[in-house]
Amino acid sequence: MDPGSIVLWNARLLDGRGTQAREGVTVTVTDGRVAEIGDSRGEPPPGVLDLTGKTLMPGLVDAHVHLTSNVSRSPGFGPREPLKGEAPRRRELGYFVLAMAARAFLRAGITTVRDVGSFDYEGIVLRQAVELGLLDGPRILSCGRIISATAPGGLIFGTMYREADGPWEMRTAVREQLAAGADFVKLMATGARSVEWEDPEPAQMTRGELAAIVDESHRMGLRVAAHAEGLAGARLSIEEGVDTVEHGLSLHREPELLARMAERGVVLVPTLSTFHDLAERFSPQFVPALVEQAVRQQDEAHRTLVAAHEAGVTLAMGYDSGPPGANALELVRMAEAGLGAAEAIRAATEGSACALGLTEVGTVEATKLADLVVVDGDPLADVQVLTDPERIWLVLKEGRAVAGQATEAGPLTGP
Ligand SMILES: [Zn+2]
Repeated sequence: MDPGSIVLWNARLLDGRGTQAREGVTVTVTDGRVAEIGDSRGEPPPGVLDLTGKTLMPGLVDAHVHLTSNVSRSPGFGPREPLKGEAPRRRELGYFVLAMAARAFLRAGITTVRDVGSFDYEGIVLRQAVELGLLDGPRILSCGRIISATAPGGLIFGTMYREADGPWEMRTAVREQLAAGADFVKLMATGARSVEWEDPEPAQMTRGELAAIVDESHRMGLRVAAHAEGLAGARLSIEEGVDTVEHGLSLHREPELLARMAERGVVLVPTLSTFHDLAERFSPQFVPALVEQAVRQQDEAHRTLVAAHEAGVTLAMGYDSGPPGANALELVRMAEAGLGAAEAIRAATEGSACALGLTEVGTVEATKLADLVVVDGDPLADVQVLTDPERIWLVLKEGRAVAGQATEAGPLTGP
């Protein structure tokens, strides 16, 4: 075995492509990539990591997170609530919260995240910190600020939004995100369920505005994610060629649009957890009318998940909630809402990678990047194991052990 290699011996392999598990597999990782996938025979050779009884799968990819130091959706995560009279906290403390989040993602087996909007370009800052090796964290793709028409949400979301009106200002807004280092563009095709003065049903942008964003982004090589709750905004988004539809709960009402998504490879990110948050988990904190609306939306989101799957639409996992590291709860919700474990895992790996436009992660295949998770147990038999930190045994990012129970016990060694 050459010194830069890790040999993962006798694993159950879930390759992320929705195919059946393969037993007795040895995966050799060299120079950050999967070099070889073969069968394990006989006794474990010296120097290998014996994965008997464990499952090897692609690192999870979350296609809808908000990389923000605001921990309002993450009770118990980050600093405690300030006491009255306590010294004010400097804004820069937020960067330590982001560092905590980066670690929490890796610890949960999440090796890639797509940041769909954060305050003050925090997602881009964290991405740079990880890329510069200042800390270990997931691979990050960030949209910078979300492009929205002037709307009530701007009052609530502040610097998470770049408000713009008219096609040329939309192009300027895209160019600003590109200049700020964005990896893709996120737009608000409709209002948001969490804003009292917004109606999420109608399209919030005109066709001309939305088309300008898509054209400007695609010409410059950026993908486009569209927040679309009501049907009119979802229709505009799909017709004008966005790459992913976020939430998309109303799509079950129009099967023709789902067929079109399937045909054109537009990915749906159903974000079931966010509806659960508003309808149940955080309901006492929200305006009652928004909670009632979320109860209806939650039901619609479940219908759309099933309808989209049946129509052959590629699905991705997007938790859109907190705390960081609990993301696989969305995978469990997708499984329980009708996908089953195998398809939900596929959504959280190959499907999410597809949403991000990444071809080097999301599956376990020779020559691809070795972003891998070893789970103590069988997620196909019990998908809940993916939400249990005790069962995340080893996390590799580009072939390097970055988290997991095995790393906490001491340096990785063979038998
Ligand atoms: Zn979101």
